[in-house]
Amino acid sequence: MNQMKICPACKSTSGESFFEVEGMPIFCNVLWPSAEAAIRCRRGDIKLVFCPSCGLVYNSAFDLTLLEYGQDYENSLHFSPRFQEFATSLAADLVKKHDLHGKQLVEIGCGDGDFLSMLCELGENTGTGFDPSVNPTKEDLSANQRVTLVPDYLDARHKHLDADFIACRHVLEHVERPVQFLNTIRELIGERATTLYFEVPNLLFTLRDMAIWDIIYEHCLYFQPGALVRLFADSGFRVLEIHETFERQFIGIEAAVGAAKQSVFGDFDADAHLAQTRDYIATFVAGYRAKFDKWRKTFAEMERQRKKAVVWGGGSKGVTFLNVLEPSAVKYLLDINPRKHGKHVAGTGQQIVPPSFLIEHQPDVVIIMNRVYEGEIQQTLTDLAISPQIIVDDLNVD
Ligand SMILES: [Zn+2]
Repeated sequence: MNQMKICPACKSTSGESFFEVEGMPIFCNVLWPSAEAAIRCRRGDIKLVFCPSCGLVYNSAFDLTLLEYGQDYENSLHFSPRFQEFATSLAADLVKKHDLHGKQLVEIGCGDGDFLSMLCELGENTGTGFDPSVNPTKEDLSANQRVTLVPDYLDARHKHLDADFIACRHVLEHVERPVQFLNTIRELIGERATTLYFEVPNLLFTLRDMAIWDIIYEHCLYFQPGALVRLFADSGFRVLEIHETFERQFIGIEAAVGAAKQSVFGDFDADAHLAQTRDYIATFVAGYRAKFDKWRKTFAEMERQRKKAVVWGGGSKGVTFLNVLEPSAVKYLLDINPRKHGKHVAGTGQQIVPPSFLIEHQPDVVIIMNRVYEGEIQQTLTDLAISPQIIVDDLNVD
């Protein structure tokens, strides 16, 4: 076992454990061909530790050797109009702000390369995307002359990186050794004036809004803005900007190569973020318990009334929700990504079905995992002419 006993960002050994959940699927986003195989998936424990020194939260029970990202890893959100809208406007902002025209771009953890393609199209840039889960034979990977996808991790083997701009979205929270990861990028860049945009889930949102289903085994790190700024500064980057985005669910950070060890910009107060994180953690465990108990009660009532429920949202939130609560009233998980249809949920085995399946299934209740998507889901239900009771997960807590 290769478990994290010290803070993976600042090496402090004074971490404080505050939350545990055992036996979760190690991959929420791996699809299974049958319910039996899905239930037999590998599992791992989550033991969250708060580092009082840098403000990072990490899973001290995380074991990298359990994980291997492959081509059955399905994490694409681009089928959702709401998420697509966010990515499109982000790409336009980045192209404008950093004058990305005729430039060399790199994306680390590019998935299908949708975002990189957008950046390249918008500014007539050339892009290289790295991702071990890239499947170059996927049909919807239309030949894009500007973009090269490399089905591999980016690491020191690549020797050098010709990039004016590097994007890396929703990757860093999966990285067991973040300092080494950023140092490698720093070395591959060399002296070139490269700008970076990184995006990670926002721990403050997870804690404050009790977005408890975002706590998943694949994420060994949980960042709040202060911890992220410190990590970048300690890795030899100059932080240009940091902000909460996507209704505060994500943090975006922009950085450049710079000698300044301490990044100072605006009135950013890392200590305030640290204190706030500590405050949220103090109430988190009781809040988690309350939310868990409320859902258990809700499902017991549904089962008593023999109601049929479906969960809408086959991303990690939906999968974690099902694994933590194990509701027998839920036989199906809905998702708009056609590549997930017919597959089964890691750990609990429900089949993943398209929205049109609801016409046949006629559920009594639809549970929405993320309020951000409530509008588009409501519209789909209206289009399908069905009107089940809707419960939005995060509005359902006192
Ligand atoms: Zn630390």
